[in-house]
Amino acid sequence: MISRRKSIQLLSSIPFAGLLFEGLNSITINTSKISPSYRDFYKELGIRTFINATGTHTFLTGSLMRPEVLEAINYASHQYVNLLEMQDKVGARIATLLDCEAAMVTAGAASALTLGTAATITGTDPQKIIQLPNLPGPQLEVIVQKSHRFGYDHAVRNTGVKMIEVETKRELERAVNSRTVMMLFAHHASNTGKIKDQEFVDLGKKYNLPTFIDCAASVPPEENLWKYTKMGFDLVTFSGGKGLRGPQSAGVLLGRKDLIDAARLQVPPYGNTIGRGMKVNKEEILGMMVALEEYLKIDHARERKELEERVELISNTARSVPGVNTEIVVQEFGNHVPQVRVFWDETRIKLTPEQVSDKLRFGHPSIETITLPWLGDGLFVNIWMARPGEERIVAVRLKEVLTDALG
Ligand SMILES: *Cc1c(COP(=O)(O)O)cnc(C)c1O
Repeated sequence: MISRRKSIQLLSSIPFAGLLFEGLNSITINTSKISPSYRDFYKELGIRTFINATGTHTFLTGSLMRPEVLEAINYASHQYVNLLEMQDKVGARIATLLDCEAAMVTAGAASALTLGTAATITGTDPQKIIQLPNLPGPQLEVIVQKSHRFGYDHAVRNTGVKMIEVETKRELERAVNSRTVMMLFAHHASNTGKIKDQEFVDLGKKYNLPTFIDCAASVPPEENLWKYTKMGFDLVTFSGGKGLRGPQSAGVLLGRKDLIDAARLQVPPYGNTIGRGMKVNKEEILGMMVALEEYLKIDHARERKELEERVELISNTARSVPGVNTEIVVQEFGNHVPQVRVFWDETRIKLTPEQVSDKLRFGHPSIETITLPWLGDGLFVNIWMARPGEERIVAVRLKEVLTDALG
């Protein structure tokens, strides 16, 4: 995950002018299946395309949908259906696939955070649904561990609740009162905070409070898709447009049937609701379902091995430049994929990581890499979301840029 300040910095350093590339002469990637031949819209508009060597960041448009997902989207676009029936049947299919009580497709994980919280507040009470986020009475509360606060919890606060931060089990138990509606857990922060996932769930059950875990960026591993509903979390969300490679503006909310039913009353076709602006069209509803189906079909061990080979190639190529070192970094929770940290002796290679990143971005072809100071110095190359074969281009360009800067 990337901090907000960092992403704004990065955004401001990306020009709007197009940088179109010819591709490296020696390496060709077959994109014939991917790009439509009749019109080159990005070229027409002067929009820069690039090789994604950063992972799944919203500001770089996340991930690329699998062909099966695009086929489903196209399929859905040719006929009318009733939106409620579509949500019913797709929700039921997803619940079966992921072996949970109920499921719905949302407009992303952030949307799911708002809808799930709203469900814990209003239930199916039509009056409360209309009043949200301005319910009469004292402000309602959501309990969260201090180290689990994150930028996206704004989506929880959209419902008008106040976040009550606690650090210990004792503090949590003391914070519970008649205004408490929910307990929030951030999967990516699982190894921080004194209260671990199972204990958090148990405390929720003890006080009869729904527990919600944000797993937005938490596939792989695949088993997380059912691990947390089975552990007893009442609500679980995943982004559709990250590791699942579904629509970028979709996600899933999984969990208890009464809560999913209540969450569904907060979105279209219902209009006077907090979620009216979180509409998901039939195309993306179906696309999300197919993304999950495809994800479950993949040979994950093989995919992981292939990814490790791509990572090795980049790591070894970068290391072949004198003064350059690399390390393979895997975060334990959230974005659980190998990344290459490339770092060097700046007295020999007279460029900062940001300067190398810029040279890759403004070179041909354009390549996006990232710095992640909280994970270590240097440049991070995350080839996970790049198209097959692009790792070779990244390796060659990285070596070129570093070699050129050798003093
Ligand atoms: C990406 C992310 C979100 C938001 O997900 P969207 O599907 O883009 O709405 C929420 N929480 C965490 C931890 C994330 O990484």
